[in-house]
Amino acid sequence: MVVPYKHEPFTDFTVEENRSAMLEALKKIEADLGKEYPLIIGGERITTDDKIVSVNPAKKDEVVGYVSKANQELAEQAMKVADTTFETWRKSDPKFRADILFRSAAIVRRRKHEFTAHLIKEGGKPWKEADADTAEAIDFMEYYGRQMLKFKDGVEINSRPIEYNQYNYIPLGVGVVISPWNFLFAIMAGTTVASMVSGNTVLLKPASTTPVIAYKLMEVLEEAGMPPGVINYIPGPGSEVGDYLVDHPRTRFISFTGSRDVGTRIFERAAKVQPGQKWLKRTIIEMGGKDTIVVDNEADLELAAQSIVQSAFGFSGQKCSACSRAVIHEDVYDQVKDRVAALTKEKSAGDPHDNSHFMGPVIDQGAYDKIMSYVEIGKKEGKLLVGGDGDDSKGWFVNPTVFADLDPEARIMQEEIFGPVVGLTKAKDFDEAIEIANNTDYGLTGAVITNNRVHQEKARKDFHVGNLYFNRGCTAAIVGYQPFGGFNMSGTDSKAGGPDYLIHHMQGKTTSEMF
Ligand code: NAD
Repeated sequence: MVVPYKHEPFTDFTVEENRSAMLEALKKIEADLGKEYPLIIGGERITTDDKIVSVNPAKKDEVVGYVSKANQELAEQAMKVADTTFETWRKSDPKFRADILFRSAAIVRRRKHEFTAHLIKEGGKPWKEADADTAEAIDFMEYYGRQMLKFKDGVEINSRPIEYNQYNYIPLGVGVVISPWNFLFAIMAGTTVASMVSGNTVLLKPASTTPVIAYKLMEVLEEAGMPPGVINYIPGPGSEVGDYLVDHPRTRFISFTGSRDVGTRIFERAAKVQPGQKWLKRTIIEMGGKDTIVVDNEADLELAAQSIVQSAFGFSGQKCSACSRAVIHEDVYDQVKDRVAALTKEKSAGDPHDNSHFMGPVIDQGAYDKIMSYVEIGKKEGKLLVGGDGDDSKGWFVNPTVFADLDPEARIMQEEIFGPVVGLTKAKDFDEAIEIANNTDYGLTGAVITNNRVHQEKARKDFHVGNLYFNRGCTAAIVGYQPFGGFNMSGTDSKAGGPDYLIHHMQGKTTSEMF
């Protein structure tokens, strides 16, 4: 019997023992910096001359790793291997596959701080955020392993005398997994292992800013007994390798997490049936958000301000679930605004190495420039309350920034910035607040801070987001506890870490036998 699922606990770094263990791990992984990483196709290591250089966003000149870059020829080679391997892997025992995940989770747990240290370097994550990323990666392995065991014998359906009907889920085929850099471990691992444990073979294309952690996942899965060819590691440029594999007639499904621009492009390209293609490609596409915290007039205002600041600036606002807007009842607007400003002034951005800053850097120069250009837009659209400054001399640092008195239609209130910028606006009553909260193209997360039960029930029905939270912030969903995914332009709502997630990676087969 497998023990029931329980999420991985977070590490308390105020405990001296944990703090020194983390510092030790950071020292240990220094030795790995600047190493070279090959592609892995059919279990074989392949080195190319062309490299992706992964750097520490807090220290641009510190190279985390040089990673071989796939091209279309290598992507084709990987596709052939995945296609052939599928013929055996699809018949493998689901329990065998689940056990690989349970063992992988145990391997990561044993070396937890080492993985977290790596995320601090490659992702620029503060300790707490990096620890949560590692914990979530473990959770995905543990949770999806158990989910597969639930589906392994099919689902109960009706039979009649002398007739035996069965309904089983079978895998789809070769899946292309394209992951983002922000949950460089958790989302990359979650989307990959869900595809694999469901009996599919995988072509894993991680984000080009964070490819090394994906190599480390491959090592863990191999150590846990995953046969060669089941997951193939092919980092490379999205435009070249990504488009090629999305268009490929042998691609059976695509699991993508990333921006709206790329997600909609993949959706469109995947819809085109290519010569030789025998199926309609399945797409799991999870995209951005413009997530709102609504503050009612009957509410704990300290909780409201704390929730806004934590959700807006945790990991520098680079979470798809980050609070980037707050809609506040006019009766309490000034109070909440002042408290948000005061709390934000206490926060700073700096190198996460020694855990002395609330925030780390943003991921790269492109992100830095984009965020700073939105700061300029914000200065025209609203009142800059706090922040608005940055420094990209050593790493890409942007200070936490708050704009107040914005029009709900302002660009700062409508477009995903993906950085530490939050906009505040006023609503005349609760109904108007919900209307404003729903006025974007997105529908990922949202939170309502209220002590009014009637308002809470209204929000439950009318606030159109995939993950709605009451009297807390809008980030930090936990695998198996708050299945995660959004509505509208936030994606296909596949609900990662939820009870039906694996089903998106499989198809139902009915068999009926007469005796
Ligand atoms: P991105 O879209 O730039 O990149 C995501 C992945 O797509 C990367 O691996 C990239 O190399 C690849 N890619 C780029 N062009 C491609 C193409 N033409 N074909 C195929 N693949 C291509 O996103 P990002 O900057 O890595 O991530 C940030 C975005 O992800 C934000 O919008 C954020 O909201 C979103 N996100 C959503 C969720 C969710 O669950 N909804 C979770 C995390 C992040």
